[in-house]
Amino acid sequence: MSNRADPNLLKELKKYGEAEIESCFNCGNCTAICPLATDETPFPRNNIRMVQLGLRDRLMSSLDPWLCYYCGDCSATCPRKAEPGEAQMTMRRWLTAQYDWTGLARKFYTSPVWEIGSILFVSLFMVWMFVLFAGPMETDHVALNTFAPVQRIHYGDWALAAFLSFFLLSNVFRMYWLTLRKDAKAKIPFLLYVTEAWTLVRHFATQKKFEKCDENQKGFFQKKRWRNHWFLVSGYVLMFAMVVGFLPWFQTDNIYPIYHPQRWLGYYATIVLLYGGFDILWGRIKQEHQSHRFSHLSDWIFPILLLLTTISGIMVHTFRYLDLPLATYYTYAAHLVILTPMLVLEVPFGKWSHLAYRPLAVYFQAIKEKAKQRQEVAVGAVAAVAATD
Ligand code: SF4
Ligand code: SF4
Repeated sequence: MSNRADPNLLKELKKYGEAEIESCFNCGNCTAICPLATDETPFPRNNIRMVQLGLRDRLMSSLDPWLCYYCGDCSATCPRKAEPGEAQMTMRRWLTAQYDWTGLARKFYTSPVWEIGSILFVSLFMVWMFVLFAGPMETDHVALNTFAPVQRIHYGDWALAAFLSFFLLSNVFRMYWLTLRKDAKAKIPFLLYVTEAWTLVRHFATQKKFEKCDENQKGFFQKKRWRNHWFLVSGYVLMFAMVVGFLPWFQTDNIYPIYHPQRWLGYYATIVLLYGGFDILWGRIKQEHQSHRFSHLSDWIFPILLLLTTISGIMVHTFRYLDLPLATYYTYAAHLVILTPMLVLEVPFGKWSHLAYRPLAVYFQAIKEKAKQRQEVAVGAVAAVAATD
């Protein structure tokens, strides 16, 4: 890994967010107060210093920005108002762009024209798909599966899932390459990837580290951000699984009784997505929490698309119950026109990608630390043997 200084790194990073990294005088207060920093990962001070020194390769191989959950304690106590919490957020956007080999993430994060233009492009593509492939509109009663044949939509979902998976997994591979292979300070035995896999599963399912943020709050507000985030992710994953894996079961013209799992699973996902999207948007409008004081365009687009998708989904469901055929068909088309760019652009290239990068960073960090410990033990044993000879 190169330690060559790049004088343009700070300037480049500033295109991704509003951190005042140049104001930092490296006092270390932020790392001391951070509930998630450790001796092995002394962020945010360490990576702020990397940026000041222009150490591009070292920053690119760092997992630390992903280990921060933006509680904002460091920003609140920084004597230089260097906004270290926002600096971590900015670095996460920058890292997302480094992992993405297509260059689209960089375009989306640094150019509003690209971000909004791409959403409009994908939306218009979906309108065109409806013009070409939609079935007849029966107007005497709601027949959604005649207008939008479920098998056709299901194949479209699979194509979309394949598209997302290909780009996200190839970017994940680049993350792995940059952070574990290129920066290999210690040899990593294959078995460690297997024995530490549980860390990945646990952190994806629970986002355990997020729990530590807001620990100093009292009562209901203690762990509130973690709780809301967990419910939001659970709703998102559930809805994604139902739509991609079980659409013929989920999109049906039959109206099931209220106790049927198709109904209550759908209601659960809808309620948590609605609440989660509104909570994020309201937080950004009010700007009370440290993490909401700065909002990048991508921070707005994500909850807005999420809310519009959820609200249009609720409207489809309501119109179907009220037996309003045309209203059902048009809102269904609008629902997919909003949902598709959110998935196609946000999951592999935008804000949603952190769902994969965060637990992976915890997993990779655990592997790195275990490999280093093993190497230290091995070196210690060799030294002990040499001393006894
Ligand atoms: S970001 Fe602020 S608290 Fe952290 S080292 Fe720099 S000046 Fe100190
Ligand atoms: S925002 Fe919170 S978790 Fe992130 S570096 Fe600052 S103190 Fe640590």
